[in-house]
Amino acid sequence: MGKQTIPIYARVKPVARRQRAGIYSIEEDRSASSLEIIVPRDLADGFVNNKRESYKFKFQKIFDQETKQDEIFENIAKPVAECALSGYNGTVFAYGQTGSGKTFTITGGAERYSDRGIIPRTLSYIFQQLQKDSSKVYTTHVSYLEIYNECGYDLLDPRHEASRLEDLPKVTIMEDPDQNIHLKNLSLQQATNEEEALNLLFLGDTNRMIAETPMNQASTRSHCIFTIHISSKEPGSATVRRSKLHLVDLAGSERVAKTGVGGQLLTEAKYINLSLHYLEQVIIALAEKHRSHIPYRNSMMTSVLRDSLGGNCMTTMIATLSLDKRNIDESISTCRFAQRVALIKNEAVLNEEIDPRLMIVQLKKEIQELKDELAMVTGEQRTEELTQEVLLQLDELIKKFLEDTDHESTLDVGPDMRKIKYCFNHIKQLMTHTKILDKNLLAPDITGDKNSSVGKEEFKKLREILQQRDNEINILVHMLKKEKKKAQDFLFQLSIGSSDHTTLESSSVSLEEGERISTCDNVKEAKDFNPSIHRASFLLRRTDGSGEMSLGRQEAFEIFQRDYADNVTIEDNKHLLKQRFAEAKSLGEKVNEVRNKINHLKEEITQRHMQRAALGVASPSEELNKSDPVEEKLRAQLEDEKKSYKTMFNRLKGLKIEIEHLQLLMEKAKVKLQKDFEIWWSEEARSLQEQLGTPHLSNSPSALTTSPQCFESQHQLYNNRFSESRRANPNEYPTGENSMSNLSDSASQIRMPQSSKSSIPLTGDSQADADIMAFFKARQNLLQKKGLGIK
Ligand code: ADP
Ligand code: MG
Repeated sequence: MGKQTIPIYARVKPVARRQRAGIYSIEEDRSASSLEIIVPRDLADGFVNNKRESYKFKFQKIFDQETKQDEIFENIAKPVAECALSGYNGTVFAYGQTGSGKTFTITGGAERYSDRGIIPRTLSYIFQQLQKDSSKVYTTHVSYLEIYNECGYDLLDPRHEASRLEDLPKVTIMEDPDQNIHLKNLSLQQATNEEEALNLLFLGDTNRMIAETPMNQASTRSHCIFTIHISSKEPGSATVRRSKLHLVDLAGSERVAKTGVGGQLLTEAKYINLSLHYLEQVIIALAEKHRSHIPYRNSMMTSVLRDSLGGNCMTTMIATLSLDKRNIDESISTCRFAQRVALIKNEAVLNEEIDPRLMIVQLKKEIQELKDELAMVTGEQRTEELTQEVLLQLDELIKKFLEDTDHESTLDVGPDMRKIKYCFNHIKQLMTHTKILDKNLLAPDITGDKNSSVGKEEFKKLREILQQRDNEINILVHMLKKEKKKAQDFLFQLSIGSSDHTTLESSSVSLEEGERISTCDNVKEAKDFNPSIHRASFLLRRTDGSGEMSLGRQEAFEIFQRDYADNVTIEDNKHLLKQRFAEAKSLGEKVNEVRNKINHLKEEITQRHMQRAALGVASPSEELNKSDPVEEKLRAQLEDEKKSYKTMFNRLKGLKIEIEHLQLLMEKAKVKLQKDFEIWWSEEARSLQEQLGTPHLSNSPSALTTSPQCFESQHQLYNNRFSESRRANPNEYPTGENSMSNLSDSASQIRMPQSSKSSIPLTGDSQADADIMAFFKARQNLLQKKGLGIK
């Protein structure tokens, strides 16, 4: 509904026949009617300005004396009532001098049913429409306010028996921060049907009538506003439409001059005028363009009707005219007022709002429905939190998933957002702990760009690795020699202890044979020299996810680990951990079983109850009042199960703590093993370098710690787990940054074969030399493939 001017109508009250002739005429047009008031000559010389003899006023429609109440309703009130039913505010107000028929038009005549005015007809129409429309839920309330001498009175208050107007509850105006008007103390009475609403109208009219005394003829000097409040909403929707329909019977518009008598009456007359004067001011202000301030606040009536005038409302005015000779001047001023009202533009908007209470109820319902649906699909009822045992199961699943080297393995926890969220959180925690996003892992993806600094870094890194491998080879060769010597010693002892020479010979031959075979080709066969090492290194590669260790180091690490003093403890713990996991798993299953049993028992007890209750209704007897032995037995069972549930659950909790503790111990032991290995490795390297006589390396044993990141990450893991605040001391282990710079210096001095054909003897041991050569060859190929061949 866009902006609309207020339609104005005129209604002429029937007057005695003899006064009728020649005072006014009505001209009907298609879209509008005009009323011409002709000033009789005798009057023209007297009261009214004698320069003009007739006055013409345009109205939407003029209802002449014979017009019946139903026609008035159909033309004037019905369209407004329809708007109110659709959710727009509406106002119909009657304006005119006392006795011109305002009350007759708005409320109706007291005698005949056919004289019912706009209010009863509107109520009847509205309730008829509400009954017809079953698509919405409607609520209707009515209020009835009388404003007299700037005071508001609630005409519908049922608690008061009013003998004076002052006995009625006083209504005051309140304005909220959004400048909305609220009427304090004005009761809203619910009316569920036409009858109830009519009763209320009559109650109000009676109150108004009783309160009126001959001394204060309030009915002519007061304004009455009967309001129908309609709210509607579609079933299930949280959107509510609210509208107000004001039906207003204003005070008589006659001027002070005419009622100008002394004393009390004059004061009242002034007040009436004042109130209507303010109404007029508001209307003038509204009719003027670009007028920003509208003086609504000057009177209670304009405040209450604020929306009806120039606001969110569909407003209609009826000018009631009593066109006899004596009232010509008043009729003209009524018509003039109407002309100004016709200039006001109103804009009614749909009053829709979302009821937060309804919204909450609706959302709650939706949540419950979704929960039910979820429970139906998954077959289990959701509680808010995941239980301890479920969390344990999830931990286990995540662990398995992370350890699984199969790329296609998945972590399947079912369609439960709580579980999914938990898994993500857990994995995130693991990630931050182990620094999986370390640049080391990312590096291979970005080294494609050879010209970038990343490429240079990669080159540097490879050179470092190369140097490290040299060192490893040296150590391995040394170890190989040792092993060979051991074997020879063993054989020698055998040969001493044995008289059978052929066995000795064949043994020594087989050893020589082994050497020969491994000399001819590759490193792989050299590794087969010690099958136990091979197996162990395979295991290590599987369990050590870091992938940081070179093959040589891995093998050395395996040997170290095998002979490591604490290895027994680690293995024991591993074994224990496995046991505890299994125990926790079976305990979890048992806990589940017991819980099911408990639920089952509870159900049985309820059923038993119901059966007995049904029996009690059918045949009430003393027997039933006594305790039920079956139920007691069930209850005892339930208690037992609950106890064992508690015990098992506590044990499960204890197990979880134990498992966590064992895991921590294992991690700690791993870190220690790693650390001891690093120390042993550097010691070994140093002594070897000394033996080989390469003094440039002997000064920097730290250069031999091949993979500092690996160790560091382990170390960090340890520190993170045991003390968040404690920082690793870089001086504690030979892994600091200094050793890295040493690396680059010494790298140029390390022997590097120029090509795969190089046959410079490295160790003097033919087998080891061949191994080393094969290793270099393979490595060179790899570097060339990456475009980083060493010049
Ligand atoms: P107001 O409220 O404007 O002071 P009322 O509605 O009380 O005037 O009317 C004054 C008298 O005129 C009442 O007795 C009323 O019944 C009568 N009257 C007013 N208008 C009409 C009409 N259109 N038809 C018949 N009687 C009317
Ligand atoms: Mg009246």
